[in-house]
Amino acid sequence: MHSTVWSDEDFCKILSDFPSLSREINGKRLVYLDNAASTLKSKSVIEKMADFYLYHYSNIHRAVHTLASEATVEYENAREKVAKFLNAESTEVIFTSGTTMGINFLVNSLVKSGLLSSGDTVLLSQVEHHANLVPWVRLSKFYGFKVEYIEADEKGVITTEAIREAKKHKPKIVSITGQSNVTGQQMPLELIRETFNDSILIIDGAQLVPHKKIDVKKLNIDFLVFSGHKMIAPTGIGVLYGKKELLERLEPFFYGGEMIDKVTFKDVSFNVLPYKFEAGTQHIAGAVGLGYTLDYLENLGFEKIEKHIEDLSSYLLSELMKLNFVEIYGPIDNSHKSLVSFNMIGVHPHDVAHILDENFGVATRSGHHCAQPLMSVLKKGSKIDFPNSTVRASVYFYNTKEDIDILVEGLKNVKRWFE
Ligand code: PLP
Repeated sequence: MHSTVWSDEDFCKILSDFPSLSREINGKRLVYLDNAASTLKSKSVIEKMADFYLYHYSNIHRAVHTLASEATVEYENAREKVAKFLNAESTEVIFTSGTTMGINFLVNSLVKSGLLSSGDTVLLSQVEHHANLVPWVRLSKFYGFKVEYIEADEKGVITTEAIREAKKHKPKIVSITGQSNVTGQQMPLELIRETFNDSILIIDGAQLVPHKKIDVKKLNIDFLVFSGHKMIAPTGIGVLYGKKELLERLEPFFYGGEMIDKVTFKDVSFNVLPYKFEAGTQHIAGAVGLGYTLDYLENLGFEKIEKHIEDLSSYLLSELMKLNFVEIYGPIDNSHKSLVSFNMIGVHPHDVAHILDENFGVATRSGHHCAQPLMSVLKKGSKIDFPNSTVRASVYFYNTKEDIDILVEGLKNVKRWFE
């Protein structure tokens, strides 16, 4: 029995749609536990994309011929699917290249539009990925706004008290990850919205959206960004959702073709939403592929995906907690989702990840996970000689408890070798 939500027969069909899973790595079945970096790709989504590329592809919007209209329909259908997925309007969905572009877009556009200026405060958390930290910190140097943080505790956990405490900063903008890529903590978004009810709320959904269905209206989120590649869609495609009234006020980040209404030698007026923010030729097949991905996930059932990942997450955490030679970071409760970061006492994380790959076919990730400031927080709370990096194991809906058992067996072996 692989899953509590799918029959073994259905689960085997899911597995067979991810051909990498039938590969052998160094003579062992691949156990892919690096999903937080990027997920594997589905054969059926890729086949649909290939069909689109081979028979229906053309540039969109600009021509009257049949291929252009077919490609335009597919591209705009994809936007509709994303809008439905998020409970948004299609005019509020902008295609980007991913989360990093979405945040860079927002910081620049908010500043250019006067929604963020000198003297204002932007509140982040101490667990942010560099994608939601570097753009704010760098541009604060040019534009004079302040950057403050919701503090993480020594395990890297963002507590309710820390969230409430950060109210003192009176932030104009709160930009926070929906789920940490290091501690796995899913943030209490209702509490954050309620606490900062006057602030513009930006959610980095890179880790959250692949694991939890988000209703942007219900949560009253102002902007949400995420990447397709972390939810089996192609690389190079992502989404920026923005509330219509805010998007109307934003100056575009990119300028060029498609995003204009009228252009003279002296001035420019912009196209309507969402085209105002999609300058130049977009990643058309990527957007179409994201649309196919959402069909695919919907067909599997978003609730079932969430439940399967939930089962695996708690199993992963509890099995790792049984190992007395492992130090775990992040919360020890059920806000800890889909990934666990840890260190083995006395063995460098790169060695752990390397041995797991070489001897057990297990793919994990080691390093600072693009969260260097958080590493300094974890170092303070660590009871070991903290190596400024961790090993991270992360699951997706095609993983099983057996995968986790192989990881744990591998770690026990690493321990024996280093004794
Ligand atoms: N935010 C978080 C929490 C992430 O985990 C990542 C990627 O790992 C990003 C942002 C950046 O995503 P991308 O590289 O797809 O732009």
